[in-house]
Amino acid sequence: MLDQFGREISYLRISVTDRCNLRCRYCMPAQGVTWVDHSAILTYEQIVRIVRASAALGIKKVRLTGGEPLVRKGLAGLVEALKAIDGIASVTLTTNGLLLVEQLPDLLQAGLDGINLSLDTLDRAQFAHITRRDALPQALAGLEAALAAPGLRVKVNCVPTGENDDQLIPLAELARSCRLDVRFIELMPIGLGSALPRRTEQEVREILERTFGPALPCPQGGGDGPGRYLTFAGFTGRVGFISAMTHQFCSGCNRVRLTAAGFLKTCLQYDQGVDLKALLEAGADDAALQAAIGEAIRSKPASHHFGGDKQAADEGRNMNQIGG
Ligand code: SAM
Ligand code: SF4
Repeated sequence: MLDQFGREISYLRISVTDRCNLRCRYCMPAQGVTWVDHSAILTYEQIVRIVRASAALGIKKVRLTGGEPLVRKGLAGLVEALKAIDGIASVTLTTNGLLLVEQLPDLLQAGLDGINLSLDTLDRAQFAHITRRDALPQALAGLEAALAAPGLRVKVNCVPTGENDDQLIPLAELARSCRLDVRFIELMPIGLGSALPRRTEQEVREILERTFGPALPCPQGGGDGPGRYLTFAGFTGRVGFISAMTHQFCSGCNRVRLTAAGFLKTCLQYDQGVDLKALLEAGADDAALQAAIGEAIRSKPASHHFGGDKQAADEGRNMNQIGG
């Protein structure tokens, strides 16, 4: 469906849990996390009802995220149920990969279409520093398993913070030898990300071009998201940039987000939307659910104002509650 600015909204990101087995510095505090109570987290049945109503309004793609989605039991069952909904063309996952080796067979069986694996470094000590857990071998085993799965679309996402400058080349090199896209995502000033340094697209591109030579144009297909892609001589895959800070993409935004607690968020930066869990628990039927989702989508804000002054409606959650 179209929002008030004529944008076609077709993509829903769903955070299935706020729990995580890592503690990335820009996403979660080291300690003292206030967890959403289990009773306040959407059940899988509630997620399926929301996605069914959303599909009737034109949502075609769903991405499961978190927290770490694979720490929630039975995720493959949810994938299977979502794939069975009329109008849902693709169900994908964003994960840190730690639990992928054991869960991938069931996820593939359930029909999972793609995986975005978050990986900020290939250096074990740096990984332990950034994520506060010594778990690089498990993440890499997850990546290897994903790459070995026939037909699965795989992307690696890295947030360049300045701390991982020496890893941008080794990470981009994954796209030289493997059939995957490596994307660099500008750190956004949400939650803990507000207080940290970041590298811009331009800075990362300069670092890459110093080693790989001039960037080359390449096909942009394979997704209708905010990623813009280029490649380098001799590369199999592509290098992408998602640059909310320096290349605002709000005018083409096609997405809304569902938090683990069931709040339908219509822009990453604002606490604006509708509490669908409350609505479901008040006994809303499918027509009422669809009407509430439709109204929230219609009212989606025009754009974020990252870099501007703080506003009263700004998001107060950390990224693990929103899903990135
Ligand atoms: N745990 C899973 C993972 O890390 O892939 C899924 C959830 S995580 C919140 C989703 C993505 O959000 C990750 O790629 C992470 O790097 C990114 N992220 C978290 N905080 C961010 C921020 N402030 N700005 C940009 N990306 C952020
Ligand atoms: Fe966990 Fe993902 Fe946040 Fe890292 S970015 S702490 S893996 S939710």
